[in-house]
Order: sequence, then structure tokens, then C-alpha cells
Amino acid sequence: MKKMHYLSTRDASVSVSGSEAIVKGLSDEGGLFVPVEFPHISKADFEVFAELDYPQRAAFILERFLPELKDGLAEFCEKAYARFDGDPAPLVRIDEGQYLLELWHGPTHAFKDIALTLLPHLLQSSKEKTGARAHTLILTATSGDTGKAALEGFADAQGVSVVVFYPQDGVSQLQKLQMQTAKGRNVKAIALSGNFDDAQTAVKEIFTDTAAVEALEKHGIVLSSANSINFGRLVPQIVYYFSAYADLVNGGQLVYGQPVNFCVPTGNFGNILAGYYAVRMGLPVNKLICASNRNNVLTDFFAGGAYTVQNREFYKTASPSMDILISSNLERLIFELSGRDAQLTALRMRQLKEEGAYKVTGAEHDAMRALFSAGWASEEAVSETIAEIFDEYGYISDPHTAVALRVYADYKAKTADKTPCVTVSTASPYKFTSDVLKALGETPLANEQKNLSLLEDLTALPIPESIGELFGLKKIHTDTVEKSFAKQAVLDYGGKLKKGVQ
Ligand SMILES: *Cc1c(COP(=O)(O)O)cnc(C)c1O
Repeated sequence: MKKMHYLSTRDASVSVSGSEAIVKGLSDEGGLFVPVEFPHISKADFEVFAELDYPQRAAFILERFLPELKDGLAEFCEKAYARFDGDPAPLVRIDEGQYLLELWHGPTHAFKDIALTLLPHLLQSSKEKTGARAHTLILTATSGDTGKAALEGFADAQGVSVVVFYPQDGVSQLQKLQMQTAKGRNVKAIALSGNFDDAQTAVKEIFTDTAAVEALEKHGIVLSSANSINFGRLVPQIVYYFSAYADLVNGGQLVYGQPVNFCVPTGNFGNILAGYYAVRMGLPVNKLICASNRNNVLTDFFAGGAYTVQNREFYKTASPSMDILISSNLERLIFELSGRDAQLTALRMRQLKEEGAYKVTGAEHDAMRALFSAGWASEEAVSETIAEIFDEYGYISDPHTAVALRVYADYKAKTADKTPCVTVSTASPYKFTSDVLKALGETPLANEQKNLSLLEDLTALPIPESIGELFGLKKIHTDTVEKSFAKQAVLDYGGKLKKGVQ
């Protein structure tokens, strides 16, 4: 099989293998790794794919991006997806031509599990392939769900430790509890004063801080990332777009070649970018609908072609995993739109950092609007949607999924597009119990554990076991640091790692 190379969105002369891209996470000059070309899934390939179960489907796609890891992939996918409760990506029909792709049946009940149950295997194997001996320190900024999924995915893995930073007041009560109670001798969660963008910026700065990187290297530690800037996060996410389509074809709802729409609740642009990659690989898609909450910087970008964070207020919403102003993975899309111009992409990223804004050209704007549509939902609209969808279809959605359901309803009303649509359902409603209860007209109690039972009584959706159990666990990670001390916290942790006292 042909070897796949990766280049950087900010330096086209960079050439690394997939395993190197996974080990490094981020390219040295700050760019993101992208494959030198997109493998094509032909109709004949698709017919083979459609016959497989989910772990096999995952191995089928992964092999095309990571051919050097081929021998281990089937086993890695088996192991990762055995941690899910049944099918990792079931498609639920709620109405004619309207489906939900539920990606939250994994160990932490958010879609991040799809990639983060697999990433530890990919990383381990990539380290072996590249001969990397150093201890890997995974640094991750989280808006709530990535953090717990990384803590869970990497717990007690060999040769790797994890430090997660989350915004102190920017995650749900349950998300915080999930992180505070994380077990594993090699993991740590730290609350950071500030919002998600502050946490993400602090983490990115550590990666590009030469002195900090060298200090860690002296301890035999190299940094890597479990955020969706790591290419190893994106490939597993491509799989469920093909898988949903295969399920529709297998179920007779579609004939191969007929287009579908996907509506995706979006924050860091990782989930929907994987959908875009699937399109580039040949998946028949009419529109990718980018759904945002009140932090609607992406809606404005798709409408006007200018990405502007300057003077924009950051709102805390009921869908905290989408409370993001700097969507990191958009860099990979604008790199493609520019005709893979790394110099121009680097310039735009510099403009974003220094001036808080950049613009794409008219031609690029037309190209992105040909495939993407974008919209946003206000907090009231999200709340209404949770209640309406429950009344109409008996389907109970978490606030992130409800953002997408609302944006899709608006899209349909505006365009009268009859293409079948798969809305990506990204979290269990129990992760956001209080807000879901409020949306259903209930008054949540101060005791979140009791709220779980209240929601279960109302909806008959069983409480996931690992969520019910959280309230009996010891809170292990209770540190809070100022954002300016994030780097010091990492260096301190590195020092302890060296001494073997994690
Ligand atoms: C992370 C997350 C999203 C947004 O995904 P991105 O890849 O950041 O766009 C949406 N919903 C939930 C529940 C999430 O955890």
C-alpha cells in the first residue's frame, strides 16, 4: 500500500508520516498536519465497507490514512469500540428523511469518545513505529467533553501522561465532576481561571514555548495533544459519516450515490471538518450544515467570509462544549480553500492572532458556500427545541444536539431542501441534566444526583451507569490555577514525572 505523507498547513515543505503526525500533534511552526492527498473511497470500496461492523469500518478507513499501522488497526478498533454500550454510532430515525446519529454511547457519554478511546492505541503504536522513546505528556484544553474522554481513554496507558485544563466556570456540573473524579496514576485535571479560549491559547503557547519544551525534554518528556488539532483525533471521526451513509443504504432509505445532508453542532470545527474530509474522499453529500450556539463566529464567517473574534463577546451557554471563538480546525478548511497555500494560511493565522481577524477571497467564499450552510440558535431557541422535539417525537436531546436540530429546522424552512438529513447527536442529555430539565419546564433541584432521577422519570431514558456512579466517587483533582500559571503547572508536573511521583 502507498505510504501516506502529511504536510503542515503553515509550511508545505514539512513532510512526516501519519505516525509522526500523531506523535507530534502539532507541527513545529504551529501549523496543523494534513494528508498530502485524500484517499478515495470508490463505489466498490463502499460496497465492501457497508458489509462490515463498526470496528471493522473504522479499521477500513484508518488503514487508508495510516497504512504503516495496518497490522494493529483491527485489534485497536475492536478494543476501543468494545468500551461502548452496543453500536458506537447508531442512526435513529425520528421523521421522514430526518435522522439522528448518536455518538454518545461511549465511556464518557459524549462524541469525543469515538476518537479518544482509539487515540491511545494509535499513539502507542505510532511511538513504536517512529522509535520515539520519550515519555509523552498529552496537554489538552477542554470545553468539557474532550477532557474527560482523554482522562478516561489514557488512564494507566504506558509511556504517557495526561494533563487537562478546563475553564473553572465554563463546564457543566456533571462535566466538572467527571474530571475531578478521574482515576489513573498518569492523569491530572486542572481548573483554569478564564474561558475555553484562554485554556486553548495557554496550551498552544506551551507547545511553541522553546524554553518550556526544552526543559521538559531534559526530563525525557515530549508534548503531544489530544485536542482535535491532532490528526489522530480526526480520522476516527471520518468513519461515522461513511457509516451513517452505509446504514441508510443498507436500510433501503437511499441508493448509493444519492446525496444526504449532515447537520453538525460545531465548536472547534473538528467534527464537521471530518465530514468535509469524508466528502473529499467521495461521500455523496449535498450540504454540511454548521450549527453554532450564541457564540456564532462561524455563522458570520460563512455568511460574510470574514473571521472576526476582535470585539466579540464570549457567552457562556447551555452547550459549553461549543463555547468557542477560535475554532482551531477551521485552519484546515481554509488551507484547502486556498488551494493548499501554506504561506497564505500562515499569514491569516498571524492576522487572527495579532489583529483578531482575517478574510477569505470572494472565490474561496463561493467555494465554501457551495458545500456549507451555517446557522446559529439562541439560548431560548435551544430550550424550546429540546421541549418541542421531545413532545413531537419523544426524543430527548442534550443542548448541543438541540442547537443542531434548531439550525436544521431553520435551514429547512428557509430552503425547502428535501434532501434527507442526518443530525449529529453529540452528548447524552444526562451530562446537562439541569438545563434539559429547565427546558422541559421543570425546576431543577440543587442536588444534581436527584435531578438525574427526575429526568429519568420524565423521559424513560435510562441513566448511564457511569454517570449515576459519579456521585459516590472521591474528588481527586481539585486544583485551580490562574491562566498565566498554566505553563508552570505543566513544568511542575513534568518535574514530578521525572522523579516518578506522578
Ligand atoms: C466537542 C463537542 C461538540 C463540538 O465539536 P467540535 O469538534 O469542537 O466542533 C459538540 N457537542 C459536544 C457534546 C461536544 O462535546
